[in-house]
Amino acid sequence: MVLDTTSLRVAFAVVAFTVGILFYFADYLSTRSPYSGWWCVSLALFLTGSAALLLEATALRWFANPVGNSLLVGGACAVWASARSLRALHPPVWVLLAVPGCSAVAAAVDHPGSNPWAGDAVFLASMCFMIGLAARELWLGGPEASRIRMAMCVAAASVATFYFCRLMSFILDGAGSPRYNTFFGSAVTTLVGMAFLAVASFSMFALSSENRARVLRTAAAQDGLTGLLNRAGFLQEAGDELRRIRLDETHGSLVLADIDHFKDVNDSYGHAAGDVALKSFAGACRAAVRSGDLVGRIGGEEFILLVPGISAERARLIAADISNRFETASAAARFPMPTVSYGIIPIGKETADLDELIAAADAALYMAKSLGRNQVVIGTHRG
Ligand code: GH3
Ligand code: MG
Ligand code: MG
Repeated sequence: MVLDTTSLRVAFAVVAFTVGILFYFADYLSTRSPYSGWWCVSLALFLTGSAALLLEATALRWFANPVGNSLLVGGACAVWASARSLRALHPPVWVLLAVPGCSAVAAAVDHPGSNPWAGDAVFLASMCFMIGLAARELWLGGPEASRIRMAMCVAAASVATFYFCRLMSFILDGAGSPRYNTFFGSAVTTLVGMAFLAVASFSMFALSSENRARVLRTAAAQDGLTGLLNRAGFLQEAGDELRRIRLDETHGSLVLADIDHFKDVNDSYGHAAGDVALKSFAGACRAAVRSGDLVGRIGGEEFILLVPGISAERARLIAADISNRFETASAAARFPMPTVSYGIIPIGKETADLDELIAAADAALYMAKSLGRNQVVIGTHRG
C-alpha cells in the first residue's frame, strides 16, 4: 500500500484547521487558559507548516523547505510551552525563537532548492527534543497530575520516540533508503502527527472540563462573603478529618463561635459595617489557626473550627487569640467590634459523629450565652 504524501498533508491541514477552529471557540474563548492558548498556537503552526511543505513539489521549494521546517518546529515548541504552562511556568522566549530559527538556518544552508531533505537532521532532532521536553513537563506534573495529563505524557513520549527513531534511520540508513521511506517517510509521519493531534486536542478539552469542575466544586464549598468554607463545605471536609482523627487515634477540638449582639452592629452602623465585621472575624479565625485547620461560616454570624491535635484547653487559648485579633480590627473599621461567645468540644478516638459533636458544641455555646456572653465554655459529649 502506498500512501500519497501530498493527499495526506492536505488531509492533515484540513483536520488541523477544523480542530483548531473548534478548539479556539469551544475551549480557549471560554477558559482563556494558557495551555489552551498555546495549543491553539501550535495547531496554527502545524497547519501553516504542513501547508508550506505542500509547496515542496513546486519551484518554491528553496523557500518552502526552511519555512515549513521552522513552522513545524515552532509548533513543537508551542506544545512544550503548553505543557509547561500546566505547571504554571512560562517558556523562555529565546528557546521559542532559537530552536525554530536553527531549523530554518539549517535548511536554508543545505541547498533547499535541490535537496529534498535539506536541514532534516536538525529538524528531526528539534522535533524529538521539543516534544520530548513536553513529555517531561507533563511527567513532572507530579503524583497529583491527573490521568489525562499522563495520557498526554504517553502520547508526547511516543511521538518523541518516533522522531528519535526517524532521526536514527535518517542518519544510519539515509533518507533515500527503503527502510526510512517505509517506516519514517513523510506519509507515516503525517499519520503519526494526525493521531497526536487527535489525542492532544481531546485531552486538552478533557483537562479544561476537569478544571472547570474543580473551580465549581471549590466555589460550591465556599462562603461568598468571607471566603471560608460554607456549611456544606465544612461538613464535607470535617467528616473526612474526623475519620482521620479516629483512624490515627489522635485528638482535636471543635470550636463553635457566635458573635454577640451582632444584630446591634447592623442596626447601629449599617449592614455594610456588619459585613466588614464578619470578614474581619473570618480573618481573625484564619490568622489564629494553622493553614490545614478547618474554618467555616455555618450561619449568619456563626463560625466553626476543627483543629486536629489541639486539646480543648489549648483551643480556649485559640478562641482568646481570635477575640483579641477581632477587637484589634475595630481601629481600621472605625466602629467597635462586638464580643464573641464560644462553645468548645474535645474530640477523642471514642468521639461520636459530627452531628453529635456540633450539637454538643452548640449546647456549650448556649451556656456561654446564658452566662453573660463574651466567654468560652468547654462542654462534653456522650462518647
Ligand atoms: P446573640 O448575642 O444572641 O447571638 O445575638 P445576635 O444579635 O448576634 O443574634 P441574632 O441571631 O439575633 O442576630 C443575628 C444577626 O446577624 C441577624 C442578621 O441580620 C445578621 N446577619 C446574618 N447574616 C448576615 C450577613 O451576611 N451580613 C450582615 N451584615 N448581617 C448578617
Ligand atoms: Mg450572635
Ligand atoms: Mg447566631
